[in-house]
Amino acid sequence: MAVASAPKIVLRTRPSSDRFPTEALRIDQASKTVTVTLGGRNGLPSDRSGGAQSYSFKFDAVLHSVPQTAVYEECGADVVQGALEGYNGTILCYGQTGAGKTYTMTGDRAAYAERGLIPRVVSALMAALRAEQGLASWQLRVSYLEIYNEAIFDLLDITTQPHEITLYEDGAGRLAISGLRAADVRSEQEALALFFEGEANRVIGEHQLNRESSRSHCVFTLALALVREGDEGRAVRASIHLVDLAGSERVSKTRSEGLLLREAGHINKSLHILEQARTWLLAVVLAAGERGRDHVPFRSSKLTHVLRDSIGGNCRTVLVANVWGDAAQLEETLSTCRFAARMA
Ligand code: ADP
Ligand code: MG
Repeated sequence: MAVASAPKIVLRTRPSSDRFPTEALRIDQASKTVTVTLGGRNGLPSDRSGGAQSYSFKFDAVLHSVPQTAVYEECGADVVQGALEGYNGTILCYGQTGAGKTYTMTGDRAAYAERGLIPRVVSALMAALRAEQGLASWQLRVSYLEIYNEAIFDLLDITTQPHEITLYEDGAGRLAISGLRAADVRSEQEALALFFEGEANRVIGEHQLNRESSRSHCVFTLALALVREGDEGRAVRASIHLVDLAGSERVSKTRSEGLLLREAGHINKSLHILEQARTWLLAVVLAAGERGRDHVPFRSSKLTHVLRDSIGGNCRTVLVANVWGDAAQLEETLSTCRFAARMA
């Protein structure tokens, strides 16, 4: 039995129009430390005393001006290796809208070299399956869901209604999702074709059904089962969840005033739920290293429920905190650092 492993917390910056490092945001890659200073000389928001106040955070890794390949090496490689050994894994991107969550997860679709974690994890998994001698059989299933306002949408099947998708435990006590398409794939190309189909469906949901994409969580899942020769038909099973979380910022007062009352109410409700999901997510990860998982209320939000078997405990969990280093974004950057640091 492997020992419960703490989540790995990685900070990633996106390119910013301000020159780095600024006085307000110091990034020290060697010591893996980020320091945010409010109330400095740059006309930044100040603390109550009016003086400058610095906050330092230490991470497991700080990725500043690094290419996508290095992000995969830091965040994805161990998760893929773990899955081949039977450990579930989850990688989550957390941060304000515009901070680079989707760039980290998906990458730039127009530039192959800038592909993100999802295509790299798929590719590495397929390469490992091809390379392994003595595999009697393997199966890889792909699913892709979106959680919006506590409803689960199947991004691989937009004809499915959210209420037809339910979570339950299978005979072996594993979490299963009924009504969700889980497509068998035999190649990297097939897996990516499904991912892009899901991406297209997400855009449809956004435009035709008014789902605001920055307010939803997207979970791309790879479910692996493999049988090695000599294992007497016993399958090694593992799932990898790749999660692009909803933007962590609050909807601004000015923005909500411009909306219809009904819409504003709806957004506030989904924000409240996001806040709750965030709290539970935190509780879940903290519980992994401490009291054990028995008391964690995974069912309290759809997100934590979906991730139940793949977060904390024996699972490999990586949280990428995406920050946008511009001076104007400093308060959100501080808030993201605080959240990520609490997870460690
Ligand atoms: P989010 O998903 O958090 O809202 P995005 O991933 O969409 O943010 O990023 C916002 C913009 O910044 C996009 O145009 C994206 O391509 C760009 N971007 C983000 N991170 C990087 C990066 N590390 N390198 C280059 N461009 C980036
Ligand atoms: Mg995004």
